[in-house]
Amino acid sequence: MGMSRVGFLGTGLMGSGMAKNLARKGFRVTAYNRTPARARALAADGVEAVSDVALAVRDADAVVGMLPDTQALDELLGTGMADALRPGTLLVDCSTSEPARSVATAQKLGQAGVSMLDAPVFGSKAAAEAGELTFLVGGPASSYGACQPLLDAMGTRAFHLGANGAGCQAKLVFNMVIAGTVQAFAEALAMGRAAGLEPATLVDVIMAGRARSGIIEMKAGPMIARDYTPFFPLKHMRKDLDLIARNGRRYGLDLPMAGLLRELYTEAMAAGLGEKDFCAIVEMLEVTRVPRANDAAP
Ligand code: NAP
Repeated sequence: MGMSRVGFLGTGLMGSGMAKNLARKGFRVTAYNRTPARARALAADGVEAVSDVALAVRDADAVVGMLPDTQALDELLGTGMADALRPGTLLVDCSTSEPARSVATAQKLGQAGVSMLDAPVFGSKAAAEAGELTFLVGGPASSYGACQPLLDAMGTRAFHLGANGAGCQAKLVFNMVIAGTVQAFAEALAMGRAAGLEPATLVDVIMAGRARSGIIEMKAGPMIARDYTPFFPLKHMRKDLDLIARNGRRYGLDLPMAGLLRELYTEAMAAGLGEKDFCAIVEMLEVTRVPRANDAAP
């Protein structure tokens, strides 16, 4: 199957870098973004912007979506995109989405002869720009094989995890660990700080032993400096925690930490932190420092 023309949907923080890398590697990329200026900004990188989603997908061999979730993709499909997709087109949904919803959309598209893969990623904005993402893919093996050149253009690694939905499932597993680790680090740091220890030294201590982690390595500096420039917006981690909680319930699992994190991220959204990087969750520790009625007396 030829794979030279790619329709790209959603040139946000992640999608911009991904679309640029596809163009850089020789694909003919036609991009649609809800806010047109954000797609037009990629003209110098060889990405053609169109203001109608149907124009982005009509002649495409493959369509790559980097929208917030499959729900947003479904909305686009409902506004003329579905009619414009040719049978035989391969749709690669790279958003972090609810597995069940992704499966449902894949089934619906399958009936129209369009094959879909869920292919959420890890690596943030910088990795998207550098073409160093890792893809977690669910869907038919033949489609996975066919989209290798696209994945190679945008990333350095891919895992094929099983049927449709499996990529989304793996991504929720991954993000549960990320959100939990960042929260544990934030609380531990607050405690060490309150005890008069130097934050930077505490990070050295953590990184010297088995408590070390890649996400702590990446976020410790910005958290200490209170620099919340968005790489992965907090509102998206909130979305993912919603998905994790719902997914857990689906399997009859009680996931207490996921539930707590979801509440905390919901409060952070209400406090106006949604557009900041998710490591701004550390700010909620300041908010919750007011003494609570059930605090034990020292
Ligand atoms: P983002 O910067 O918010 O971009 C989202 C894109 O989707 C924008 O282009 C936005 O258009 C468009 N959009 C939003 N709602 C839409 C709708 N209802 N209909 C049509 N278009 C819509 O988000 P991002 O950080 O690139 O994240 C995209 C996905 O990747 C999410 O699933 C996220 O969880 C996942 N992810 C992100 C990271 C990260 O580090 N950022 C890492 C791994 C995975 P406008 O420009 O008009 O707003």
